[in-house]
This record gives sequence, C-alpha cells and structure tokens, in this order.
Amino acid sequence: MTSVTRFAPSPNGLLHVGHALSAIIAHDVARKNGGRFLLRIEDIDVARRRPEYVSAIFEDLNWLGLSWEEPVLVQSEHFSEYLAAADRLIQMGLLYPCFASRSEIAAAADPEKTDPDGTPIYPGLWRGASAENVGQRMAAGESPALRLNMDGALQALKAKRGDKPLTFVEVAEDGRQETRTAEPHRWGDAIIVRKEVPASYHLSVVVDDARQGVTHVTRGQDLLPATDLQRLLQELLDLPEPVYSHHRLIKWSNGLKLSKSNQDMGLRALRAEGATADDIRRVIFS
Ligand code: GLU
Repeated sequence: MTSVTRFAPSPNGLLHVGHALSAIIAHDVARKNGGRFLLRIEDIDVARRRPEYVSAIFEDLNWLGLSWEEPVLVQSEHFSEYLAAADRLIQMGLLYPCFASRSEIAAAADPEKTDPDGTPIYPGLWRGASAENVGQRMAAGESPALRLNMDGALQALKAKRGDKPLTFVEVAEDGRQETRTAEPHRWGDAIIVRKEVPASYHLSVVVDDARQGVTHVTRGQDLLPATDLQRLLQELLDLPEPVYSHHRLIKWSNGLKLSKSNQDMGLRALRAEGATADDIRRVIFS
C-alpha cells in the first residue's frame, strides 16, 4: 500500500526543530515508498492564527527541502464540513449543548480527575439539560459548545462492534507494528464543536485525514492520547482507520519541551544564525 502522510501545523507561531522532525518524518515516510506527502494548515483557532505564520510555514518547509502536493488544505475554509460531521453525531444523539463557563466547570469538577491534557474532566453540568434550559440560553443569544456524551458514544461503539476492542496500530521507527488499545473514556465528555468556532481539533483532524486519504498519521508523542478520542470519532463516523507513528519529542537538555511561543530552537532564528537544512537534519536525527 502506498502511504499518504501529512504535516499539519497550526499557524499560531513560528516552527521549531520539533516541527521539522514531524515534517521530515512525514515527508520521508511518503517518499520512501512512492507515497504522497500533504501539508495541511490547521487554523481553526481563528483568534490565534496569523497569515504571516502561514507564509513562514511554507518558507521554512521549502528551506528544509521538502515538497508537498498542491492545493494545501486550509481548515478554516471547511467549517461547513466539520459541522456536517458534527450533525451526524447529533443525529445519533451523541452530542449535547453546553453553556458552562470555564469557571463554572472548574468549580464543579473534581481536580483529581483530569484528562490526558491535564484538564479536569467535565463534570456533566449540561448533560441531560432540559430543552427549556437550552432554549433560554439560545434565546439570550449565547452559543454553546457541543460535547460528546462519552457514555452514549461508548454504547454506540459497542452496538456497532460488539466486544471487539477499539484499537490502533502504532508503527515504530524501525517499521515494527504494534496494536494498542484506545481508551477514549479518559477524555470524558470532550468538546467536539467549540463555542467560538464551528469545529474542534479532534473533529477536524479525523474529517480531514479521511477526506485526504491519509493512511499514515505521523506526529509527536504529545498527541498519542489524542489518538484514543480520534479513533472513537472515526468509528462513530464510519471513517477509515490510518496507522500511526508518534515520534519522540525534541526537548531541551533539562527536559523542558520546546515551545512556539518563546521561539526557542526556531527554524527561522537558526537559519539567520547560519544553520543549513542539513544541520537541522543532523541535529534532529543525532
Ligand atoms: N495541528 C496540530 C499541531 O500543530 C497537529 C495535529 C496532528 O498532527 O494531528 O499540534
């Protein structure tokens, strides 16, 4: 099977060497077996995205010597498709509106119970809310987030698959494949459509990976737990299952994660200091 891979950065900062590792792995996996490498701009976070970061992504990837298929998919141009997928989940009775504020959630949540991102598990405030309550908030002009009813979703999964466990295939750097069990319940009633934008990271990723025919998702280890929820959404929406490779993260020698916000190990800054694309490959693969 030829691989279709993608690099899917969010244009809310400049790329650093960690992104270079993600992009190069995705690119090389595709090139190695005559596959296709795609670039996707994940800009649903409209408050944080910046056009100059989109141009910087193209510039930095070109500098790294990578090439990708055109046209590049830009997520903010596809909100109606994410909503159509959300609508399917609504038809299945698996999403519900939630008007709770961050502080209301924080006050009601059990701080001991957190999701893999470290956020307290949603305490179910609007799960099972009456149509009247929802109607009142809508009439007041408020727009809700849409949350997945996790218990309902797991029941729907069971109705579809029986006792067959939800799994995904992780491919290691040496090509060895391992089947792992996905544990989506760890996310609780996750947000599937955000209040501010008609999508969420998890929903847009599964819709786009399917639409673009992505067969091999390569990304950082930090997104490994996201796979659990994304596999659940794929099953509920009848989307194909890609294989996954979650690569090591590049960290500072003191163990701290690189971050876009403080520009550490930024590709642009390294280039300005005279580094070459070969230097970057040497650093990330040494
Ligand atoms: N857009 C995500 C990020 O920049 C990556 C999404 C993915 O690879 O699934 O962290």
